[in-house]
Amino acid sequence: MRLLLVEDHERFAEFVKTGLEKDGFTVDAVTTAANADAAFAAVAYDTVILDLGLPDADGLSLLKAWRDQGNSTPVLILTARDGVDDRVKGLNAGGDDYLLKPFEMKELVARLRALLRRPGGTLGTVIEVGNIAFDTSAREVRIKDKAIGISRREMGVLEHLMRRAGRVVPKDVIEDKIYGFDEEVSSNSVEVHVSRLRKRLTASKANCVVHTVRGVGYLLAVESADDETL
Ligand code: CA
Repeated sequence: MRLLLVEDHERFAEFVKTGLEKDGFTVDAVTTAANADAAFAAVAYDTVILDLGLPDADGLSLLKAWRDQGNSTPVLILTARDGVDDRVKGLNAGGDDYLLKPFEMKELVARLRALLRRPGGTLGTVIEVGNIAFDTSAREVRIKDKAIGISRREMGVLEHLMRRAGRVVPKDVIEDKIYGFDEEVSSNSVEVHVSRLRKRLTASKANCVVHTVRGVGYLLAVESADDETL
């Protein structure tokens, strides 16, 4: 899951980003409303964490502008303002949830997952394709009901392939979802993760195969029952 963190307090933003990355999120952090707007226009984020007090504009006007454009990406508002009025204003401007500072990382993560599970959101708790089960809350992959060891990037690739099982997922979409702005992406890195993922799936006797669609991307498909008996 790729998310945009809009927070002008840099050390705090770094702390939140690090915490979320440990939980499997890919995080782009920006410190101004202008940069937030530019990032939001360039990337299809799964969710946004928005601080209201920004140096160049009010987070609320930014949110209102996004909603006026018809964008329904879930937005969690983060702020030190604790007045009921601010909370109401935030939700009226199109915020989906509200978290007051200070908070604990585990509460932020729980709220984000709840937000993404709502109808229209993109996150379910357990996605199943063939004999693979992906628990998006626990960040655990089970094949034939046994948990397997898997790296964060491979997990990111698998998650997107599973969400669109049976359909081609373009390579640049996968790349976009598993890397943030500040991460180096070598041109063959998605191939490398896919190749490792394939080996893991085979080793764990998954009945799903990652097919390469030349020049486009990848597709996860369940092998037929006939293949299973071979
Ligand atoms: Ca602030």
